[in-house]
Amino acid sequence: MNIVIAIDGPAAAGKGTLAKRLEAHFKLSKLDTGLLYRATGSKVVSGGGDPQDAQIAEACARALDPAELDNPDLRSDEAAQAASKVSAVPGVRAALLDFQREFAKNPPPLADGSPAQGALLDGRDIGTTVCPDAQVKLFVTASPEIRAKRRFKELQERGLEAIYARVLDDMKERDARDSGRSASPLAAASDALQLDTSEMDADQAYAAALDFINAKKLF
Ligand code: C5P
Repeated sequence: MNIVIAIDGPAAAGKGTLAKRLEAHFKLSKLDTGLLYRATGSKVVSGGGDPQDAQIAEACARALDPAELDNPDLRSDEAAQAASKVSAVPGVRAALLDFQREFAKNPPPLADGSPAQGALLDGRDIGTTVCPDAQVKLFVTASPEIRAKRRFKELQERGLEAIYARVLDDMKERDARDSGRSASPLAAASDALQLDTSEMDADQAYAAALDFINAKKLF
């Protein structure tokens, strides 16, 4: 049986940190699906296109090469904004669906060459649309103010100039687009464990996720 862990939630809720810890603990192959949308959005923008232009956005998604996902520029807020625009285009979501499902079905080997014990995908619609049969679904969230504070601190630590009010506005704008789009909006699956990390640190979120997963006796 191929085990799939789906982690969904809005930006800066703590998905990435939790995903990394679960990936290492259970020896899983991990796909950060946000990178697929970031790479698509960046491709459109660098070609001088409008990320909301459905035809161009879908063509860029179809032309995506997984090697492009390693580009560190994809971590920028500009890439995030472009990602959130292309991700509302149904043709883009359809183009990226096969790649994500194939990854979940046949997770690539781990960095040391050993076989993965399963796949972990994190994003916005993994538990609802990409892998509705995933054995484990987690929905990680936190208030917009807490998430903006975390993102602001992270930007400062990376030596980037940032204004908190602007970070909060961007976060709310992206939340509204991700939750309001008609194609696969950000949503918790009904069988997901909801983890609100507003008042939790990374260790507490990890402990709660581990309890939930271990109770299923999958590994
Ligand atoms: O997770 P990350 O912040 O990298 O995602 C960037 C954007 O990509 C999100 O704001 C969202 O619009 C889009 N996305 C998506 N579905 C996913 C992952 C990301 O629509 N599964």
